[in-house]
Amino acid sequence: MASFKVLVVDDEPGIRMGTRRILQNFKVDYPFMDEHIEFEMLEAASGEEAIEIIDNQHPDIVLLDNKLPGIQGVQVLEYIRNKQYDIVVVMITSYASLELAVKATRDGAYDFIPKPFTPQELRSSMENITKQLFLRRMTQSLNTEGKQIRFQFMSVLSHELKAPLNAIEGYLRIIGEKQLGDQIDPYQEMIERSLERIKGMRQLILDMLDLTRLKSGKPMHKLQHINVADIARVSRDTVRPFAIQKDVDVYVKCPEGITMNIDPSELEIILNNLLSNAVKYNRDGGRVDCQISVEKDTIIITVSDTGIGMSEEEQQQIFEDFVRIKNTKTRHITGSGLGLSIVKKMVDSYGGKITLESIPDKGSTFTVVLPREFSFDQIN
Ligand code: ADP
Repeated sequence: MASFKVLVVDDEPGIRMGTRRILQNFKVDYPFMDEHIEFEMLEAASGEEAIEIIDNQHPDIVLLDNKLPGIQGVQVLEYIRNKQYDIVVVMITSYASLELAVKATRDGAYDFIPKPFTPQELRSSMENITKQLFLRRMTQSLNTEGKQIRFQFMSVLSHELKAPLNAIEGYLRIIGEKQLGDQIDPYQEMIERSLERIKGMRQLILDMLDLTRLKSGKPMHKLQHINVADIARVSRDTVRPFAIQKDVDVYVKCPEGITMNIDPSELEIILNNLLSNAVKYNRDGGRVDCQISVEKDTIIITVSDTGIGMSEEEQQQIFEDFVRIKNTKTRHITGSGLGLSIVKKMVDSYGGKITLESIPDKGSTFTVVLPREFSFDQIN
């Protein structure tokens, strides 16, 4: 249960007590809010006392009478504005000073409640204010999160793209200046290395695009009734060239005729990421086994490898954005740290589950459980 702190500033004890009584058991909810919002009440009998409470206890909402014994309500309002506090101020005024209330609203007060008010009037004003404030705070936190993600994007981009670009530039210079002679053969290895580096950069860009798509709101699954074995074959063929290079055998077992309702490109992303990791973090000459089966109304996908495995602590972190395990075994393996976070977000968006069992130097098994007959009703 979330709560907003409400400070009532009024020199009349009756108003303070009445407001507290009306709001302390009042709860506001919004259709898309997971929880109710309730109010924690604070009181001040003067403007000076209000400022002290504002500085020390940071209320979210201030219900402010203008006519106070010392400094006036508008001065408290000015104080809050100068300090740039994120506080919603509502002026409580008698009908006689409506003009002042209008001025205060122009000076930054969110609203005003004319005195005397009924409990119902106060509650409905508070309901509006709370919803506005809730939305504002939510937007702010999304913006900060967005900025943080952009920052991480930028640092990963500069880090992960600069090194291969420098390498390719270096190779091209050597080739352009014909440093190894006029024949093409001596340059073959450099050309291959450049192509390899370009492949890595392309994968990073694709990962970033997948992640951006997932971060941009509710995923837009393009659902289709698909034959799972068809997608499994595509994924096996995608990792095959890489597996041959690493001398890793990849076995994919999926009974023909299993169907499910899913966006095929997303199932492919899930399988590609798990299979390519199982090859990438394997030992030379290792093996990868992918099994797909049906259990009740779910599809179960397991991907096991005979690779480097992970400690318990490492297993806890790897589904986060940009997390890569750094040790001597992974030092020469390139990646963005995005693959598994994309897989997890996709699996979650179908209401599925991904789990992992892993033993260092023995291998890892990832298990994905997805509903067979997913429909949008399940996430709404
Ligand atoms: P990337 O492979 O691009 O670094 P991922 O998000 O796919 O990013 O994986 C995160 C980290 O999890 C990897 O850097 C690696 O350390 C670890 N990891 C993933 N899959 C495996 C696996 N099959 N075996 C061992 N470690 C793995």
